[in-house]
Amino acid sequence: MPHILIIEDEKKIARFLELELKHEGYTVSVANDGRTGLDTALNENPDLLILDLMLPELSGIEVCRRLRHTSDLPIIMLTAKDDVSDKVMGLDMGADDYMTKPFAIEELLARIRVALKKHRAGEAKEQAPANRNIQEGPIILNPDSWQVTVCGQPVTLTRKEFETLRYLMEHRNKAISRDQLMNEVWGYDYVGDSNIVDVYIRYLRHKIDDAFHLKSIHTIRSVGYLFNVEEEP
Ligand code: CA
Repeated sequence: MPHILIIEDEKKIARFLELELKHEGYTVSVANDGRTGLDTALNENPDLLILDLMLPELSGIEVCRRLRHTSDLPIIMLTAKDDVSDKVMGLDMGADDYMTKPFAIEELLARIRVALKKHRAGEAKEQAPANRNIQEGPIILNPDSWQVTVCGQPVTLTRKEFETLRYLMEHRNKAISRDQLMNEVWGYDYVGDSNIVDVYIRYLRHKIDDAFHLKSIHTIRSVGYLFNVEEEP
């Protein structure tokens, strides 16, 4: 069974999660501060990390940032605040998903299963033969190297920005709803929180359309978005 590491300083929550996860059959380790948690993650190499953001010694964001230098294990953040900027920061640091406290344990268990499955699917894909570039006008995206160039110049995207752009490019000329993007990029249905999609679309427009005088991501009113490159005259 997969090994899950919990980094959470609220001992009651940590203990509760530990018992629930063990009950599901997972192997579980617990750390109560960021520094110990980071060391444990590096030493024990778990299959998934549940990471509280507000931690003593080292913040959850910092743990996430440092882990991502060497590891691509799935990370689910726990956040006390229902604050979009907090979530976006964590996702930019490479977390895969987040839950706002208080949460229902069933939902966390469901997301753990999704994250583990996505991760395994990703590993299988990496072993498959190389994908070809996805190109639309001057925008070229390489799914293997995670590189994007626009007009021959490299553009640095975060993981979620990359995945959002990739999905839009793979479905060019089709209207894509916010829910669809949430589902594909995050792996499940979000209820009433698709504003995070708009945040990522804004970042992408800034880095691609504004920077290179293109119009590629179009808003389709009351539906979502459509990808189609128009070069400005
Ligand atoms: Ca905490």
